[in-house]
Amino acid sequence: SATSHLVGLVGTGVGPSLTPAMHMAEGRALGVDYLYRPIDLTAAGISPDRIGEVLTWARALGFDAVNVTHPCKQSVIEHLDRVDPVAATLGAVNTVLFTADGDVGYNTDTTGFAHGFVEGLPDADLADVVLVGAGGAGTAVADALLRLGTAHLTVVDLDVDRAGDLARDLTSRHPIPRVDAASFDKLPALLPESTGVVHATPTGMAEHPGIAFDASLLRPDLWVADIVYRPLDTALLQAARAAGAATLDGGHMAVYQAVDAFALITGLRPDADRMTRHFRQL
Ligand code: NAD
Repeated sequence: SATSHLVGLVGTGVGPSLTPAMHMAEGRALGVDYLYRPIDLTAAGISPDRIGEVLTWARALGFDAVNVTHPCKQSVIEHLDRVDPVAATLGAVNTVLFTADGDVGYNTDTTGFAHGFVEGLPDADLADVVLVGAGGAGTAVADALLRLGTAHLTVVDLDVDRAGDLARDLTSRHPIPRVDAASFDKLPALLPESTGVVHATPTGMAEHPGIAFDASLLRPDLWVADIVYRPLDTALLQAARAAGAATLDGGHMAVYQAVDAFALITGLRPDADRMTRHFRQL
């Protein structure tokens, strides 16, 4: 394996991302030369539809790998030589390794959600799970929940067509169909019958304060996972704790997508606890 690593984060508005700091601190801790730089397409004046050229240049300029983020996670796939089966099923790639055998895509958003979930909510009952938010992040979460063995998943989104499309896609790519979509106004009927809920809309971020659904639906035996991580302690998680529910914050997914990417890029085993401690200080 290489003695030094040069890695980039390609997307629009990636400047404030905490991922470069997470990777480089872990590289330092493991004693490897590890340089991870944001490649902000907006700042560089490069249209996202030129992602294929960006990969060609990154490889030519000596990068070992790139993380790929909004808005290129789907469009990058046609430019790759191979795609890992989990990422191919999902139709989204966030990690590209430039190998001697070509450019290979992976998705550590979905594996990262799964690893963080198993670590942070090990006893969660997956009999009947509601996912609120069917965007890009919600799609990665939904795939992870099905791989983890969710028996029944209901997808809810303010955009009911989006929820329906995701439910249909999930049903077609997972062998046992056990996914439904429901309109947002069905939540008061759904949540009392559910074992857990994952929140994957932007609600709760500083720019979108509040809680996406009625907090009086929370109860002690309904676990609550939020994937919003700025802030880590969202109004939803505060309300869930007040209701006596087990909770998982979005920092777990944010850290484990980096843990899994670091492992793919270096072939080394990063220390997930150390990366978590570092992330929570950033
Ligand atoms: P997106 O815009 O692709 O999708 C958001 C979806 O939520 C849309 O389909 C929208 O219709 C729906 N929505 C918005 N408000 C809603 C509401 N009140 N009720 C129901 N549905 C609603 O966004 P995305 O890329 O999927 O990201 C969503 C959020 O996930 C981000 O804002 C970010 O906070 C978080 N995120 C976290 C991680 C992590 O590692 N923890 C990774 C990616 C994204």
